[in-house]
Amino acid sequence: MANNMLRSTDLNVIRPYLKDASNLSGGYAHEVVFPEDENEVARVLNDACCTRTPVTVAGNGTGLVGARVPFGGIVLSTERLGGLRQIHRASGDFGSVVTGPAITLKALQAAVSGKGLFYPPDPTEQNAFLGASVATNASGARSFKYGSTRMWVRRLRVVLATGDVLDLRRGEGVADKEGRIFLKGLQNVFEVTLPHYRMPAGKHSAGYYSIPGMSALDLFIGSEGTLGVLTEIELGLIPKPQALFSGIVFFEQEEDAWQFADQAKKDSVKNRASPSTGQIDARALEYFDVHALDILRSVYTHIPVKAQASVFFEQEMTAGLEKEVVDQWYQLCQSGRALVDQSWFSQSALEHKEYRAFRHAVPVLVNRILREHYQMKISTDFTVPDERFFVLLKLYRQSLNESGLRYCIFGHIADNHLHVNLLPQNDQEAETGWRLYRTIVNKIITWGGTISAEHGVGKIKREYLLDMFGQTGLREMAAIKRKLDPCLILGRGNIIPEEILLNEGYARPFKAC
Ligand SMILES: Cc1cc2nc3c(=O)[nH]c(=O)nc-3n(C[C@H](O)[C@H](O)[C@H](O)COP(=O)(O)OP(=O)(O)OC[C@H]3O[C@@H](n4cnc5c(N)ncnc54)[C@H](O)[C@@H]3O)c2cc1C
Repeated sequence: MANNMLRSTDLNVIRPYLKDASNLSGGYAHEVVFPEDENEVARVLNDACCTRTPVTVAGNGTGLVGARVPFGGIVLSTERLGGLRQIHRASGDFGSVVTGPAITLKALQAAVSGKGLFYPPDPTEQNAFLGASVATNASGARSFKYGSTRMWVRRLRVVLATGDVLDLRRGEGVADKEGRIFLKGLQNVFEVTLPHYRMPAGKHSAGYYSIPGMSALDLFIGSEGTLGVLTEIELGLIPKPQALFSGIVFFEQEEDAWQFADQAKKDSVKNRASPSTGQIDARALEYFDVHALDILRSVYTHIPVKAQASVFFEQEMTAGLEKEVVDQWYQLCQSGRALVDQSWFSQSALEHKEYRAFRHAVPVLVNRILREHYQMKISTDFTVPDERFFVLLKLYRQSLNESGLRYCIFGHIADNHLHVNLLPQNDQEAETGWRLYRTIVNKIITWGGTISAEHGVGKIKREYLLDMFGQTGLREMAAIKRKLDPCLILGRGNIIPEEILLNEGYARPFKAC
């Protein structure tokens, strides 16, 4: 081990790494290490593997499922593993960027924007590290148009628990007909067989990715620090949009807001094929129910008094077509029974930025309220197929009102992906909240949806993943983990319950020790 690598057993240094934005409590670790390059990561993991010391990989701590909260062992902080390495501008104004894992999404966007390029995924929390964004397959408002992080990852360098290094390009190491993938490390070749479960059709980030013909790197995207440490990432980029038009549209009736979003979604999907026509083509549609608006009212006092629901929309515009785009949205608002005169439409880049801040403020304010009550967030991250979405909305409304709990609903309505945030005031309410959560999970699974569309499973949602993929699915995931992490040290407690992971014991003695 390099002597000069920063590491600490001081509890004051370790403490910040014992939590994330989920408020999951009880985390502990005896050391935090700060490797500065791939070799140091390999040495830390190799040592830990030999001593079977659990290693929890830490990004920037904004995760919502306790995935970076350690329960024993050491924390490997990625914060010194570096950020931006190279931006490449290709023909047609497209490009790519190579970075270390420790760049925040905000810094990444600013850097590529300076070169006229754009990274489309848009997780709301811009302080998240890119490495973690890949490790959780994060997505956000713009995934309606541009998909999740996975779609943009072209290459990954990964250090495995044995210290072996993989350099994986999209299109290489493709799964064969039997679902086998051969991963060529710098020292060894690893063979894994993909799980046989069927992944939900929509947005999904729960458990290991498994689809026919997928590339080897897809296995690591969304693996929540359980299969390896991501040390370098290459992303595809598109040209920076010329201009944007956005608005926050208010409604007196919540069902009018649902219908408005549904129409905007249908129009956008239809018009996407011919983007230069000045038609409606939203890249984001975000919903706020009356309770989310009430929470926002504490900061945004000018929200219309009559508003019972709202939809934020955002569209890219080509120069010369601004008037057409604005007219189209105005007509849609009129026909959708919006409070048009009281709604907000961006006139400048600054206003556009303010609307995005308005959207981001909801989870931030919710988290603040929860911290005041020392409660963990109970947040749904479900999606369901189109035909079930309005049924789900009605189920949410009815069951939440009956529960008597404080709650709000907001988020990615175009992806059938709304977050219900329950705000329990005490432990008893939290218990009621989790019971309700369980009832809704059962429906989601029956309807072919997912238990996690973007936040991942971490430690908080494991039991629901078991419901979704069953013992067989979980054992298949455990078999992959055992192949790539024979000492079972990485991301312990994430995704796969300990009893399933440890059931068959450690894979084999680790030769290099
Ligand atoms: C207000 C708020 C809004 C949010 N909005 C969104 C949203 O819109 N969309 C969304 O998807 N998420 C959202 N999140 C959740 C969170 O921002 C994401 O999950 C994010 O990807 C976590 O990044 P992080 O750097 O904070 O990672 P951490 O919380 O530190 O870690 C997350 C996971 O990534 C693993 N990890 C970190 N770095 C690496 C690495 N280099 N190699 C391997 N594994 C690694 C960790 O082990 C852990 O399992 C939100 C969170 C908050 C607080």
